[in-house]
Amino acid sequence: MSSNSRIGKRDFSYDLLIIGGGISACVFASRYLQNNITKKIAIIEVGRGLGGRSSTRISKRFKGWKLNHGSPNFNISNRKDNLLLKNYIDELLQNKFIKIDDSEVISLSDETKLDAIKKSEFCSGTSYVSSFPMGELSQKIIEFNNLRDKIDLFFETLIVDLEFNDYEWNLTSKNGDQFKSKYLICSSNLLIHKRSLKILNINKIPLRKAIPKKKDKKIDLLLNFLDKQSFIPRLTFLIYTDENYSYKDFYSRKYRYFYLEKNLEDKYKFERVIFQLQDNNKLGIVIHTKNIDFINSYINKKDEDFFKETIFSNFNKLFINNTSVNQLICNEGISIMKWRASQPCGCAVPLSLQLSSKYRIGFCGDWFEGEGFGRIEGSIFSALKLYEKFKKSFK
Ligand SMILES: Cc1cc2nc3c(=O)[nH]c(=O)nc-3n(C[C@H](O)[C@H](O)[C@H](O)COP(=O)(O)OP(=O)(O)OC[C@H]3O[C@@H](n4cnc5c(N)ncnc54)[C@H](O)[C@@H]3O)c2cc1C
Repeated sequence: MSSNSRIGKRDFSYDLLIIGGGISACVFASRYLQNNITKKIAIIEVGRGLGGRSSTRISKRFKGWKLNHGSPNFNISNRKDNLLLKNYIDELLQNKFIKIDDSEVISLSDETKLDAIKKSEFCSGTSYVSSFPMGELSQKIIEFNNLRDKIDLFFETLIVDLEFNDYEWNLTSKNGDQFKSKYLICSSNLLIHKRSLKILNINKIPLRKAIPKKKDKKIDLLLNFLDKQSFIPRLTFLIYTDENYSYKDFYSRKYRYFYLEKNLEDKYKFERVIFQLQDNNKLGIVIHTKNIDFINSYINKKDEDFFKETIFSNFNKLFINNTSVNQLICNEGISIMKWRASQPCGCAVPLSLQLSSKYRIGFCGDWFEGEGFGRIEGSIFSALKLYEKFKKSFK
């Protein structure tokens, strides 16, 4: 595995390039490499490591903490009827990369209301948890079968432009590096979705620029579907408690999840509160919110102290009579992660549009249709499915 330090503009050439280093990219890469060991492939990721939205914050400010600040675990709602997914999950279980998540899941509801308890989309089926911090799971997946040395990893590299010329893909990064390849996989839809215009400050969606209208029906349809897809923003608050903070009871498992029913979510602005026991026995707390007014007030104010006060006060009110959770006393540290696009929503893209053989480009990620839409289940499944199609089309 190569790590690349900055030394001006560079040119690279590969058989296959993957944009994005989240879980779907890693699943695809590991499948591809198992059967194409001699091929030269690379993953290009804008972040500092693998994992994407299933990653772990390793804070410089709060040393020694590893908090899963995106997806904390994952659920597979349909394992029985989906052999491709079932076999893959079994493989991850056998290799001890994941285990069944037997953590306590508690639903908090306002007992004065008799609303039916609605199960979160993150709880249906069977839940699994990574045997390592979440970000390391993606890494383990590509290291599997000693494939680690067979793939180049480019971090802190944002691809901003795509071209398809003379049957070859040509990618340009923000700092001017050029990457050429015969095959291209996009594991994120950033370069295909209209949000790219604002984020990258450009006037044409990069994939549309590379493949003009009416050149490929599948690409036109893919872009039409994505035009109707939007995203749920989220904030995650990471709380670093001091060594004296613990549960009131003697709960000793690594994770404990509290889900808030709608009425409580509206009142406290929290979607779920996840306790994560650290290796040093300190207890980390990650609070998720998708309340749009709350998120906007953070974006407009950007006042961490105000938010810290609000979060701690809401936390203490929420758990005031709880028999397991102690109150926070405000000398705990906090950091905030803003997820502009935490999950796709609205229109899912049909799996039939995953591959264009004409342009030798494939797509995977949680933005495809199916029971796992918007979740890790969908990411893994789409990557497995894409590899099957890829194998068939390009023998
Ligand atoms: C706060 C939060 C909570 C969640 N909770 C759950 C949960 O409980 N259960 C569940 O199943 N799912 C959950 N999810 C969703 C889950 O994390 C995602 O479905 C999954 O991680 C998506 O993986 P992916 O590989 O499809 O995409 P990603 O993880 O987004 O990977 C794509 C990668 O591409 C990179 N990238 C994009 N564009 C470029 C570019 N132009 N150049 C270079 N790199 C680029 C991105 O940085 C990213 O790392 C949650 C997500 C968030 C944010």
